[in-house]
Amino acid sequence: NLYSDRQNSAGMEFGHKPVLDHVAKVTADFTPPSQPIAAIINGRQERGDDKTAPLVNPTTGEEFGSMLISSPETVDKAVKAARAAFQTWGRTEAEDRALYLNRYADILEQNMDRFFSLCAVEAGKTIDDAVAEVREAADFCRYYALQAEKQMGGRIELEGPTGQRDGWQLEPRGIFACISPWNFPLAIFVGQVTAALAAGNTVVAKPAEQTPYIAHVAVELMKQAGFPDGVCNLVLGEGETGKALVEHEDINGVCFTGSTATARAINRALAAKDGPIIPLIAETGGINALVVDSTALPEQVADDVVTSAFQSSGQRCSALRILYLQDDVADGMLEMIIGAAEARRFGDPADPKTDIGPVIDQEALDNLQAHAEKMEKQGRLVWKGKTPAGLNGTFMAPHIFELDALDGLKTEAFGPILHVVRWKNDQLDKVLDAVNATGYGLTFGIHSRIDGIADYVLPRVKAGNIYVNRNIIGAIVGVQPFGGAGLSGTGPKAGGPNYLQRFCEEKAVSVNT
Ligand code: GLU
Repeated sequence: NLYSDRQNSAGMEFGHKPVLDHVAKVTADFTPPSQPIAAIINGRQERGDDKTAPLVNPTTGEEFGSMLISSPETVDKAVKAARAAFQTWGRTEAEDRALYLNRYADILEQNMDRFFSLCAVEAGKTIDDAVAEVREAADFCRYYALQAEKQMGGRIELEGPTGQRDGWQLEPRGIFACISPWNFPLAIFVGQVTAALAAGNTVVAKPAEQTPYIAHVAVELMKQAGFPDGVCNLVLGEGETGKALVEHEDINGVCFTGSTATARAINRALAAKDGPIIPLIAETGGINALVVDSTALPEQVADDVVTSAFQSSGQRCSALRILYLQDDVADGMLEMIIGAAEARRFGDPADPKTDIGPVIDQEALDNLQAHAEKMEKQGRLVWKGKTPAGLNGTFMAPHIFELDALDGLKTEAFGPILHVVRWKNDQLDKVLDAVNATGYGLTFGIHSRIDGIADYVLPRVKAGNIYVNRNIIGAIVGVQPFGGAGLSGTGPKAGGPNYLQRFCEEKAVSVNT
C-alpha cells in the first residue's frame, strides 16, 4: 500500500474540525525570521552576501523580513557542495534514500501548523490550500521513495538471444538545479527536490523570490530527517541567481516550474553552454478550457467552474481560463455560476471562513488589472466580485467576462479571471480546435452526460490532464500524474510513474559469460 495507514491528499484525515482548530492559531503562531534568511550550503547558512530583498505579506502589503540574495559566488559554492555530496549520495541504495524521504514526509506533517501560518503569511494561502500544500508535499516524498525502491532497486535482466547476460538500470545524473514557483511554495519545491534526491542526485534549489522563507524552513527540516549535509543546498534570489545556477558549468539537469517564457530562456541558456547536453524538465502554464453541454448537471457545473477558476485566486497552472457553454443552457448556467461565485468569501487567508485570498504581489495585480481592462473592451463584463475592505494587500477581485470569438483569449492571465464563450450545437469540433490552437496543453475538462462524449473528445484534445464531470484542478500524487506538453512544458508528469526516470540516466550492461 502506497501510503500505508495514512491518507493521501484526497483523504479526509484532517476533517474540518481539526483544521479549524489550527486556524485560530495561524497568525499567532507565525514567527518572522530573526535575521535575513540566507542560502543554505552544506547544511549551514551562508551569510557572505550583502544584497537583500524584502519578504512581503500579500495580505497586508507589510514586510516581515528579508533575504540575502545569493551571488554567483554563492551559487558556485552551493554547486561545489552538491558535487562533493554526490560522491556518496549517488551511491546510496535506493532503499536507504527512501528511508530519508519517508522520514522527511513525517516531519513535514508534524510541522503542519507551522506551514499553515507560513503559507498564509508569505504566500497568501487559505487554510484549505495550505492543507493541500503539506499533504501534497508529503505525498511526493512517499511516492518518489516508493518509485525509487521499485525502479532503482537493482538491475533488470533483459532476456534475449545474445548468449550474454543483458541488463538495464537507472542511474542518477549528478547535480540537479531545481527552480520552483511561488504558487505551490511547499508542494512543488519539495516535489522537485525529493524527485531529484530519490533518483540519487544532489540538488541546488532556488525557490521563487516571493516565497523563499517557506523553502528555507523546508530545507532546515531536512536535517531532522537526517539527510547528509550538502545533498540539498538552497540559494535565494531573483532571475540573476537562477541564471547563475542554470549557466553553471557543473550541473547535470534542470527541473523548472514557472512561466513558458522563463522555460524558453532556460532552454536557450542550456543550449548555449559548452560541455554536456543538459536535459530540462519544465512544467509551465496553460490556457485551460472546460466545455459544458446541455446535458450537464447545472449545480455541479457551477461549483466545479468556480473552484477551477477561483480557488487559490486562480493562481494555478491548472486553473480554468475559458469556459465554453452550450448556447441553449448558457444563461441559466451563468446565473448559477455567478451565484456560486458570490457564495465564496474573499479576504484574509488566515481567517478560517475565507475561501479565496490575495494574489501574490503588486506585479501580478498590475498584470491582472491590465488584462481585465483589455477584456472590458474586447468582451463584456458579466460579473465582478468585491475585494475585501480594510486590507492593504494585493487583492484582485474575481471577474467573469464573456467573449464572442471561440478563440478570443490568446494569453494566460494568471489569476481569478474567467472568460466565457458560448457555442452552438454543431460547433463542438470548432471548440476543440480553438482549445488546441492555443498551443498550450495542460488541463481540459468536459461536463456532459452523453454516453461516449468523453471518448469522442479525449483523443481530439491536446492536454496532459483531462477531467470529466468534475473540476480541473488539484491532481493527486500517484493517481493523477500532472503535467502537459506544447507551450505547457516538456511533458513530465509530476507524481507519475515515469517522473523519476527523467532525473536519471539509463545504462545497459551486457556481460559475456
Ligand atoms: N498540480 C496542481 C493542480 O493540479 C497545479 C500545479 C501548478 O499550478 O503548477 O492543480
